[in-house]
Amino acid sequence: MKVKSAEFIISAVNTDQYPAEGLPEVAFVGRSNVGKSSIINSLLNRRNIARTSQNPGKTRTINFFKVNDEFHFADLPGYGYAKVSKTEQAKWGGIMERYLSDREELKCILILVDIRHEPKEDDKRMYEWARHFGYECLIVATKSDKITRGKYQKQFSLIRKKLGLSGEKIIPISSLKKTGIDELWNEIADVFIK
Ligand code: GDP
Repeated sequence: MKVKSAEFIISAVNTDQYPAEGLPEVAFVGRSNVGKSSIINSLLNRRNIARTSQNPGKTRTINFFKVNDEFHFADLPGYGYAKVSKTEQAKWGGIMERYLSDREELKCILILVDIRHEPKEDDKRMYEWARHFGYECLIVATKSDKITRGKYQKQFSLIRKKLGLSGEKIIPISSLKKTGIDELWNEIADVFIK
């Protein structure tokens, strides 16, 4: 995918702030620090369009980007940050539920997990939630530069088993080394062409 234009649209708190142009949308979710901002920056070929989180767990908004005037990226708030209070967690849940329960434009959810680790319970819940609402998912294994290629399959099995995947693809990505970005773009493009 050639990125001709990418612009930040809005940091939305309420549903009436979501872009209403009806463009198809891909959403990004994952634990804080999984590398979500870095992947969005890499896909959009911008150094800092998605702010790399200075304050993990504190982002309680959905950030929308418009790409090539054709579709939207929705950067959903990260989860799983240890120091977040119950009130904050509940706020996160509310934001996610309002978005997931009623976003017709949403075509696919990219669930990001760190390639080095078995996914956590909250990743599993996120995947089950996405499926419950009927969305297609794509699993992105981040920071792939941190392990050797020979270890990918073992990690994929671990991820597949823990999340209970039903045939979804797992795409290894390194934002640092810029590997896997084209493959991920191809998968995203497939979603829109279907
Ligand atoms: P977010 O909280 O999910 O948005 O994560 P960030 O994109 O802010 O990244 C969290 C940390 O992981 C930062 O220190 C990044 O430099 C680092 N990071 C992100 N992607 C990669 C990657 O592909 N490889 C490596 N080695 N580090 C990464």
